[in-house]
Amino acid sequence: MANHLRKKVDLGEWKITVVDQYSKHYYQPGFLFMPFGLYTEQDVVKPKRKFIPSGVEYLEAQVDRIDAANNQVALASGEILKYDLLIIATGAKTAPSQTEGMLGRDWRKRVFDFYTFEGASALAQALREWKGGKLVIHICEMPIKCPVAPLEFAFLADWWLAQKGLREKTELVYVTPLSDAFTKPICSNVLSYMLKEKRIQVVTDFNIGSVDNENHKIVSWDEKEVPYDLLVTVPTNMGDPVIERSGLGDELNFVPTDPNTLRSKAHENIFVIGDATDVPASKAGSVAHFEAEVLTKNILRHMRGEPLEPGFDGHANCFIESGYGKAFLLDFNYNLQPVQGSFPLPGIGPFSLLKESRINHWGKLAFRWVYWNVLLKAVPMPGIGHTMTRVGKRIPTELLQAKATV
Ligand SMILES: Cc1cc2nc3c(=O)[nH]c(=O)nc-3n(C[C@H](O)[C@H](O)[C@H](O)COP(=O)(O)OP(=O)(O)OC[C@H]3O[C@@H](n4cnc5c(N)ncnc54)[C@H](O)[C@@H]3O)c2cc1C
Repeated sequence: MANHLRKKVDLGEWKITVVDQYSKHYYQPGFLFMPFGLYTEQDVVKPKRKFIPSGVEYLEAQVDRIDAANNQVALASGEILKYDLLIIATGAKTAPSQTEGMLGRDWRKRVFDFYTFEGASALAQALREWKGGKLVIHICEMPIKCPVAPLEFAFLADWWLAQKGLREKTELVYVTPLSDAFTKPICSNVLSYMLKEKRIQVVTDFNIGSVDNENHKIVSWDEKEVPYDLLVTVPTNMGDPVIERSGLGDELNFVPTDPNTLRSKAHENIFVIGDATDVPASKAGSVAHFEAEVLTKNILRHMRGEPLEPGFDGHANCFIESGYGKAFLLDFNYNLQPVQGSFPLPGIGPFSLLKESRINHWGKLAFRWVYWNVLLKAVPMPGIGHTMTRVGKRIPTELLQAKATV
């Protein structure tokens, strides 16, 4: 947002300040590849300052509280920042303490996550020592960042274990709180087929109650049990505690946000972007990028005293790594679930939607470069706008007739 607004706002009239607590910025999609030794630290970390444009003030500080009634932000140091307009972009983080026993004796010994840099690094070490057994991939509850990442982990694990000669010695199990492999029905059918083909057992409707460190098993509320030798879990994802301390969030600390204008539902001069919102779009970097384009326009409208435009359609675009040098690509929004087709050029591609291809895999790998050089720098992506296009998509008739839901 700083990179967008820097180009559009009169800096004689407005002062832009970015506050962030950490000096490092992580390319989180790269955490998926770290456990398999495909990416290392240098592929996923860069200094945050590198991306702050000139003319924008950058404060490395923790926000303790947002006082929306008085238009001010209190930093942990005690310093108070007054604002006319606030953009909340505090993201989502894992909260393993939300599950009983998750942080017990097995944590980072037999129980790992790959949603943090530390977790992905520790899991890489554990996989280097893996000799076979029951490897369970598990999601605690929805929503999570990049909801396809655990499936990608399962597919990559199948491939990686085969390369290491360990696939026949490893039972792979995918445990989800959903009733199917994924949230969107057509896509779910395709991904369920892939799981079956790769001999990955699926346990659905599993709502975790606790981790039993003694007997190395996860136990659901309705007393189903799944034993593990190695558990790769995605802990509950929550908004930052500052949202709770400030009384601005829902029960998971996500900020109630208008899904189309991206303004906070409670405060006229607060806007929300990325994983911090409660909008029913995917929590993904691509979504934050599309949101930023809409939000920039709406912030300029707000500054001019004009009505906001409901311009965000929930557009998400994500690759699903499926192993063996192949990947899927999904392109969808609030009203249209992922369907087959070609992207971004109708009939030409080069990417195929909801279909495995090698070019999609190269796209997934290129996404890292795109992230550092295009998304963070707020450079428009040629041919890929914030509004999802239906051109090039093979939309089943029943979906064509479906009404807009958000
Ligand atoms: C394993 C994994 C794989 C993924 N794969 C993909 C993918 O393939 N494609 C894709 O598009 N997306 C993917 N994502 C999701 C993507 O990384 C996130 O959606 C994206 O980073 C969200 O950006 P954000 O700016 O909203 O939040 P973040 O990037 O998390 O940034 C939040 C910032 O707020 C700061 N902050 C929070 N609270 C405070 C506070 N109190 N005081 C000061 N600073 C604070 C944090 O320090 C942080 O810098 C993946 C994520 C994971 C974990």
